[in-house]
Amino acid sequence: MIKNIWNNYRKIVERHCSVPGLDITGLAYWRNDLFASAVLYLMPLGFIALVPGIYMAYVTDLTLLLFVDTIAVLSFVFIAFTSGVSVFVRKLIFCISLYMVSLGLLYSLGSYGPGLLYLLGITLFIVLIFEEKIALMSVYLNIVVCIIFGIMIYYKWGGGVIVLEYDVISWFAVSSSLILLSAVAVLLIPRLFRGLESAFEKRNQLELELKQNQADLEEKNREMENFAYIASHDLKEPLRMVRSFIDLLSKNYGHQLDKKAQKYIHFALDGANRMTSLIDELLEYSRVGRVHNEREQVDLNSMIPDLLKDLPEAKEADILFENLPEIRAVPVSMKILFRNLISNGLKYQDDGNKPEIKIQFMDQKQYWKFSVSDNGIGIDDLYLEDVFMLFLRLHSNTEYSGSGMGLAISKKIVEQHGGEIWVESKKDEGSTFYFTLEKF
Ligand code: ADP
Repeated sequence: MIKNIWNNYRKIVERHCSVPGLDITGLAYWRNDLFASAVLYLMPLGFIALVPGIYMAYVTDLTLLLFVDTIAVLSFVFIAFTSGVSVFVRKLIFCISLYMVSLGLLYSLGSYGPGLLYLLGITLFIVLIFEEKIALMSVYLNIVVCIIFGIMIYYKWGGGVIVLEYDVISWFAVSSSLILLSAVAVLLIPRLFRGLESAFEKRNQLELELKQNQADLEEKNREMENFAYIASHDLKEPLRMVRSFIDLLSKNYGHQLDKKAQKYIHFALDGANRMTSLIDELLEYSRVGRVHNEREQVDLNSMIPDLLKDLPEAKEADILFENLPEIRAVPVSMKILFRNLISNGLKYQDDGNKPEIKIQFMDQKQYWKFSVSDNGIGIDDLYLEDVFMLFLRLHSNTEYSGSGMGLAISKKIVEQHGGEIWVESKKDEGSTFYFTLEKF
C-alpha cells in the first residue's frame, strides 16, 4: 500500500520535474535528474521540517516565519503536482521559496537559525540544477541580501533578531564569508562539470567512431570474403584447364621436346599445382564462419589422432597430449585449426631435428586456453604478430613450402569462436601458439 503510494508519487514527480528525451550522458539530463530527486525527497522531508516550523512560528508568534514556511510548503506541492508548467519555472519557484525561507530564518532567528547556511545551500543547489550564468546570479543575489541586511542593521530597521544581534562590522565579517563561499562554489563546481562534460563528449565521440569503424571493417571483411570466394571459385576452372593441357602436352609431345623444354613444362606444372593449393586455401578461408558454422560437441582426444593420420610427417615426430577436453565448437574448423598449428610445428624444423609437439590446455572459466608448442626453428620477435596476416610468409618455397594462409585461417577460426590467438617464440628453440575459445 505505502509502496504503491510512493511509486505513484514518484512517477508524478518524475513526469513533472524531468525533461524526456535528454541524452543520459549529457549534463542537462543529470541537472534535471538531480532536481527531480530533490523534489521527490524534499517534499516529504520538507513536510517533516517545515510543518513543525509552522507550528512553532504560530505558537511563538513569529509571523514572518509562519508566512514563508507556509508559502514554501505550498510551492513544493505546486511544483510536484501541477501539470502544464515548464521544468525551468518549477526550478525557479523551488529556489525562490527556499530563498524566502532562508531570509525569514535570518531575519527572525539571526545567527541562532540556519538562515546563512540556507543561503549557501541554495547557491550550491542552483549551481547544480541551473546553467552557469544563472548560478552566478545567485552570488549577486547573496551580495544584495547581505547589503540590505547590513543597511537594516546600520539603521536599526525592523525588530528582527538579526538587527538586534549584530553591529555593521560583525555582520560584514559574517556575510563576506557567505559571499566568498558561494562565489567559490559557483566558480569551481561548473569547472568540474565542464571537464566531466567534455570527457563524456569525447568518450561518446570515440565510441561512435569505433562503432562506425567496426561496421566499416565488418562490411569490408564480408566484401573480401565474397571476393575471395568468387575469385577462387572462378579461378579453379581455367586453372584445371591449364593443368590438364600441360599434362597432355607433356604426355603426347614430351618425347619430341628437348631437356630445356621439358624443364619449362615441369616449372609450369609446379606453378599450376601451387596455384591450385593456394586457391583451395583461399576457398577454405572464405568458408570459415560462412559455410562451417554449426557448433557441436567435439572430443579433441579422438579428433587429434584422426587428423594426424593425414600428416605423414607426424609418424617421425613425438606428439604429446593427454586428457584434452570435450568442447562445443564447429568440428571442421577445429580440425583445420589444430591441423594448421601441428603441421607448422612439424614443418618449421631444422634438418635432422626430431619434431616434438606438445598440446596443452587450461580451463579459464569462460574460455578454454590451448597451447601448441614445438621445438622448431622459432620466429623472430619482429614477426610475432605479422605471421597471422594473409599470404605472409617468412620463408621462400625452396626452404619450406607453403601458402602463407594457414595462420590467417587459424586466426579467423579462433575469432569465429570468440577467442584470440598469439604466439611466443625463441629463435632456434621453438614456438608456442596460444589460443582461447569461448565456452558455449
Ligand atoms: P605457411 O606455413 O603456409 O607459410 P602459415 O600462415 O601457416 O603459412 O605461416 C606463416 C609463416 O609463419 C610461415 O611462413 C612461417 O615463416 C611462420 N611460422 C608459422 N608457424 C611456425 C612455426 N611453428 N615455427 C616457425 N615459424 C612458423
